[in-house]
Amino acid sequence: MGGRDANMVLLDKNGIRCDGRKVDEPRRIMIRAGGLKNADGSAYIEFGDNKILVGVFGPRDVHPKHMSNTDTGILRVRYHMEPFSVGERKNPAPSRREIEISKVIKEALEPAVMLEKFPRTAVDVFIEVLQADGGTRCAALTAASVALADAGIPMRDMVAAIAAGKVADTVILDVNNEEDQAGQADMPIGYMPSLKKITLLQLDGVLTPEEFKKCVDVGVKGCELVYELQKKALHDKYFGNRGD
Ligand code: ADP
Repeated sequence: MGGRDANMVLLDKNGIRCDGRKVDEPRRIMIRAGGLKNADGSAYIEFGDNKILVGVFGPRDVHPKHMSNTDTGILRVRYHMEPFSVGERKNPAPSRREIEISKVIKEALEPAVMLEKFPRTAVDVFIEVLQADGGTRCAALTAASVALADAGIPMRDMVAAIAAGKVADTVILDVNNEEDQAGQADMPIGYMPSLKKITLLQLDGVLTPEEFKKCVDVGVKGCELVYELQKKALHDKYFGNRGD
């Protein structure tokens, strides 16, 4: 959120962004349900230049047993970036950022998953970021929801996610890496469209109350678009001709 060259580079006089998109245009999104035969459920997502694979296991026994909860199941999430996922080789050791994002995604998924149906068990969500380009937490959360559904875990709704933000004093949808670094605000949103509930909302940067409301509106509309693609991915696997 440096604000460097924001007005010059990030939005031209015709309202076109640094990667050629309009202000309310998401990047290209492709979601595939399934694909990993050894996981109970899986999904792959390309969200612009982000490429992320998610594997889900469970519900399964918890070891050590004292980590389990007799009243409900528990959700465990590991978000991991491959060393080759960013331009400069990332240290393979888990970073503070990966630990934070794992927690944020877990808390964003918990309202959606009916963990109370599986006391004493755990559902594990493994997220591998193969290529990162800004907005990995939203792309990962979106793919994790599809992978959980693919695993047959009972859910109240899927969580769809996308970021709204601000560049050159203008609210935009789906913040890319350059916009994240040089723009004025980045607001990742996770939303359950059928239940109309927000499960993730973070804000890096400064917004007026009006801009804040506009970012939420734009982000929620973006999540509704993402939701259609999540449903299509599941539909294609289970009712299409993919054969896997
Ligand atoms: P998000 O990916 O959810 O937007 P951040 O805002 O923390 O999360 O990161 C923005 C982007 O910065 C990432 O998507 C990635 O492209 C880049 N990035 C993150 N960590 C590193 C790193 N260790 N080295 C280089 N680039 C990184």
